[in-house]
Amino acid sequence: MPKITRRHQPKSKPAKARRTRKSAKKPGKKTAKRIVTKPQRAPARAKKPKRWTPAEVHEAFSRFRKANPEPKGELEHLNPFTLLVAVVLSAQATDAGVNRATRALFAVADTPQRMLALGEERLRDTIKTVGLYRTKARNVIALSEKLINEFGGEVPRTRAEIESLPGAGRKTANVVLNMAFGEHTMAVDTHVFRVGNRTALAPGKTPLEVELGLERVIPPEFMLHAHHWLILHGRYTCLARKPRCEVCLINDLCRWGEKTV
Ligand code: SF4
Repeated sequence: MPKITRRHQPKSKPAKARRTRKSAKKPGKKTAKRIVTKPQRAPARAKKPKRWTPAEVHEAFSRFRKANPEPKGELEHLNPFTLLVAVVLSAQATDAGVNRATRALFAVADTPQRMLALGEERLRDTIKTVGLYRTKARNVIALSEKLINEFGGEVPRTRAEIESLPGAGRKTANVVLNMAFGEHTMAVDTHVFRVGNRTALAPGKTPLEVELGLERVIPPEFMLHAHHWLILHGRYTCLARKPRCEVCLINDLCRWGEKTV
């Protein structure tokens, strides 16, 4: 009997043969080429500006002092109470706008007692040109009551006590402590925040960071007026949109990469 030899059958079809009809290459249709790109390098991080040396900080504030030995705040007031009220009213409003309203207000209500006698409704009418006047009127009446009931009608002298008053936060406390009581505090408003960051004198993501940074670097001899020098510098020279670097007193010391001198 002849020997029957079985031809070897592969168990599975080769890959090409397994291609289904669906995935089969259609004649004439081009397949998209895979484009292999080189991995992109991460963009270089912006260099951190060099820190100011103590000598540079001293030089900057000496120049501010020479140019304006007794800088004054622009919020009009008659005593610590009216200063407190003016600062509470100034949140999200300009000093000029607040002054226009408080001239008439302080003529009739320059103490907590007189403010209560005026009453919330008439107070509201007097300050209605100031933004958020309804809430602010409510706060001024409430803080006047609290001053009478808890502080003998006087503005207290500690940060915690001032911050406990309705409508008063950290910035209000810093302004009152500095301007009414001569404390070395640093109130950070939008101008001081910008100048601290732009110049790299005290960079920070929050007003508190900038405040603490400025307190760390500014020598005590300048601290009484430093807040006003920086506000005035931001308001009239280091403007938000178009800083006037060409007339800036500290343009050689400023670390801002985009300064125009
Ligand atoms: S040089 Fe220009 S950016 Fe720097 S502090 Fe002066 S005004 Fe501001």
